[in-house]
Amino acid sequence: MSQIQSAQLSLLIFKKRDLVIFLSICATVKNAPHTNLYPVMEHFYTIQGEGFHQGRSAYFVRLGGCEVGCPWCDVKDSWPADKHPQLCTEEIVNAVVATPTELCVITGGEPLMQDLTELTQALQLKNIRTHLETSGAYPLSGTWDWICLSPKRFKLPLQECLNAAQELKVVIAHRNDFRFAEEYAEKGNGHSFLYMQPEWSKEAELLPLMIDYVKQHPRWRISLQIHKYMNIP
Ligand code: SF4
Repeated sequence: MSQIQSAQLSLLIFKKRDLVIFLSICATVKNAPHTNLYPVMEHFYTIQGEGFHQGRSAYFVRLGGCEVGCPWCDVKDSWPADKHPQLCTEEIVNAVVATPTELCVITGGEPLMQDLTELTQALQLKNIRTHLETSGAYPLSGTWDWICLSPKRFKLPLQECLNAAQELKVVIAHRNDFRFAEEYAEKGNGHSFLYMQPEWSKEAELLPLMIDYVKQHPRWRISLQIHKYMNIP
């Protein structure tokens, strides 16, 4: 065998060995157990009641933990993360895929207090679309098909989250919130859908103002919490 043939043979053996190692690493990664645990306050199959995807069936996963502190928050029980059972990625994904749903809404609490990378990847591997509802006040993690960011003046959103949001949904709890809504529309990425949603306990007082406002400022849309009218979670 010539020196060139010998070199070619060595290269072939080296390539084959590398391929075997590569395939073995792939198999290990694919079969790697999911290790993350998430504090889950509740999870349920329902109808998305708010915003752009209003009216669609969706599996909701409400994670515990929030330090934003909105005084009118309607899920204050979610605030302490350690009060809620820890579920692993498999348990959550199995519950979602046991329904006919196409999408899973991860909400809270403030879900971005958790690293959502593993959970969102596992859901997408099962062809479930991942939707996030967040205040945007913590660094973004996870792979998302849709991000709805609801900025809160009590803990302001990060620019990286504003940049990534497809939907900006501002809760109007006071007349001053129209100005806050415009401020965050300007800070956003310029192509998010813009929604205003009346704070539930003040809807009767604020909705007429919002109707006038949206008629004057047509880039905004009104979001109502229709799940509360339908008496579903
Ligand atoms: S960000 Fe959401 S969960 Fe947290 S306090 Fe505000 S409304 Fe409640």
